Amino acid sequence: MTEEAIETEPKAPPPPRLRVTKGTPWRIDAGRRAKWSAPEFISANAVEVRQIGDPVLHVPAKKPRLSRTEIEALVARMFASMVVAHGIGIAAPQIGVPLRVVIMDVDEAGIIAVEPKVEWTSAEEEETTEGCLSIRGMYGVLDRPLAARLVANDIAGKRFTLVGDEFGAQCMLHETDHLDGLLYVDRLKSRDDLHTVEPEEEEPVSA
Ligand SMILES: [Zn+2]
Repeated sequence: MTEEAIETEPKAPPPPRLRVTKGTPWRIDAGRRAKWSAPEFISANAVEVRQIGDPVLHVPAKKPRLSRTEIEALVARMFASMVVAHGIGIAAPQIGVPLRVVIMDVDEAGIIAVEPKVEWTSAEEEETTEGCLSIRGMYGVLDRPLAARLVANDIAGKRFTLVGDEFGAQCMLHETDHLDGLLYVDRLKSRDDLHTVEPEEEEPVSA
């Protein structure tokens, strides 16, 4: 390869912050993403995201006992609700369904995880900002591990492993917390770490 060839080579995109390392989870592919983001689909399926104080957000969710068709319908409603609220992840309790199902959509990964469990987090942490679709207009500042690994089932009950870096790790931890009835505000060291989004500010990344 000549030097010119190297120069003209398109810059490689940064690696995705959510990576499947074992198994093959069901993903929201480009076709479903387009269909489930369409205005008609959204008006028929999106629901208001439940807000802090709603009991469903503060109790552990249960193992889903649903058919594949039922899980797909649930995931479609979750996705449409997430799109409307501009989220990068959502957990079933946030649409009022107390079951252990999440979507993790950092870098449009579109990964659906059933009964996810965090099995490892890095000792190294980083101070980060975090928003939640269930705590509108606010964001928090907290320490989160830089990397994490999660095991979960796909919608057919097969196991897969997912590794997350930075936002990817944060999204995993945030969504699995939802299934345990925890919100990021429960992890803040002090009330001073909770801030209001000012009107001229951009909304923080929320999940
Ligand atoms: Zn959240």
